[in-house]
Amino acid sequence: MEDYPVVIIGAGLTGLSCAYHLDRNCNYLLVERESEPGGIVRTRIRLNSFLCDGTGHWLHLRNPYMKELVNKLLPNKLVEYERRAVIFSHGVFTLYPFQANTHGLPREVVLECLVGLLKAKHPEDFGQKAETAPPTNFYEWIVRAFGEGIAKHFMVPYNQKLLGVNLTEMMPDYADRFIPRPSTEDVLKGALGFSKESLGYNAKFVYPREGGIGSLPRAFVNALKQQPLYGTDVTSVNLRNKTATLSNGKTVRFQRLVNTMPLVKFISILEDAPEEVLAATQKLRATTVHYFDIGVRGTGDVASDYHWIYFPEPDYVFYRAGSYSAVHKEAAPPGCRSYYVEMSGGASELLKEPEKLKERVLADLKRARILSEQDEILFMDLCQIPYAYVVFDKNYEQSRSFVLNFLNQNGILNGGRWGGWNYGGMEDAMLDGKSAAEQISNENANK
Ligand SMILES: Cc1cc2nc3c(=O)[nH]c(=O)nc-3n(C[C@H](O)[C@H](O)[C@H](O)COP(=O)(O)OP(=O)(O)OC[C@H]3O[C@@H](n4cnc5c(N)ncnc54)[C@H](O)[C@@H]3O)c2cc1C
Repeated sequence: MEDYPVVIIGAGLTGLSCAYHLDRNCNYLLVERESEPGGIVRTRIRLNSFLCDGTGHWLHLRNPYMKELVNKLLPNKLVEYERRAVIFSHGVFTLYPFQANTHGLPREVVLECLVGLLKAKHPEDFGQKAETAPPTNFYEWIVRAFGEGIAKHFMVPYNQKLLGVNLTEMMPDYADRFIPRPSTEDVLKGALGFSKESLGYNAKFVYPREGGIGSLPRAFVNALKQQPLYGTDVTSVNLRNKTATLSNGKTVRFQRLVNTMPLVKFISILEDAPEEVLAATQKLRATTVHYFDIGVRGTGDVASDYHWIYFPEPDYVFYRAGSYSAVHKEAAPPGCRSYYVEMSGGASELLKEPEKLKERVLADLKRARILSEQDEILFMDLCQIPYAYVVFDKNYEQSRSFVLNFLNQNGILNGGRWGGWNYGGMEDAMLDGKSAAEQISNENANK
């Protein structure tokens, strides 16, 4: 049996970053079930010329070390973009974020949003008592932060469509980091057309000049001391013996195991998981996202140049539609455009009949003036991201920390969006991988 100081499950950004940051003399085994690296962060080449990522994957780098690392991995290969994102509702496009840009919506909608916000901020002026207890769920959090109007016209329907769950089931501040909170002055200015587009964590982003987002994991692989073992699943893990069995029939022994595959799947391949851990795992929930990659000959309609568009209304089957080629022109050949269209809970009935779903999506894209009648559809591929968004419900914190503590006590480190069962982006994944590697190095140094 082969012995490894470190075995890493998954060559997504978390696993790759972990391998990259381990000491140069550490002999690790990085096991990846697919034939290429990147996990969710991959670029598929369609019709030999269209570059399609697993829906829009834009790099938001806040951490100085990560900025430096990504620039080192992709030297002179990153282009910075200013977000062109809008919301489509009530038949009009308004700038993102909705709460700071209601100008252009029907006047009664703008009024509802403004009065709602003022009521939430100054209830006593409206003869209401101020809430003193903190919000108990995400719905209440939204209404307290933005008021009834913004909740009704965007925050609630959009998040419900994305997550497919009732927001009263969710923890209050789950999306705090991602939802911009403009000042009352900015909301008032935005209602009158003095727009402020640069709000939020993703106002600017970077993207590789060549090869799609998949060039980032590929650059990591090029910088690794040992290549990942591709096309191989970790099929079972024995905690007591510290062994992992692989789909190639081999069993390997490890001192440390770093898991980046979805936590619930990982628990299901443990040979010796206690009942309480299995029970806690069953309470962890996630949504699945289906999306279409669409390649089109033609230049689309008036909305085809937006980077992405949010669709809060149930009348549209997708919750977001974006364009790879609107960001990165080379993602589609000359005279062509490429799009992605994301669907979650709301589309589940239609997914049973993919042909009908295709027709519906195309009709909705035309109604939203993204596609034009002249556009020729070259391909329309339906894909699935089985684990897309963690559902931060009331069981989340307790169940997750119980499972992670158990694994930690047994020498297993978990990281990344799904290994750590969290809401993180690509930078978070790379940071998680780095900190797992540092923890292992520190432990070895203290031995
Ligand atoms: C719809 C969507 C849009 C997103 N957009 C953005 C964005 O614009 N910007 C951003 O920063 N982030 C974005 N993200 C988040 C980003 O994709 C993740 O944070 C990141 O990819 C997580 O990487 P990871 O390595 O933790 O997980 P993964 O990419 O899931 O990697 C896990 C790896 O484990 C492998 N694996 C699984 N099981 C096994 C097994 N049994 N044996 C061996 N290997 C196995 C998988 O094949 C995979 O390669 C988005 C996510 C989604 C779902």
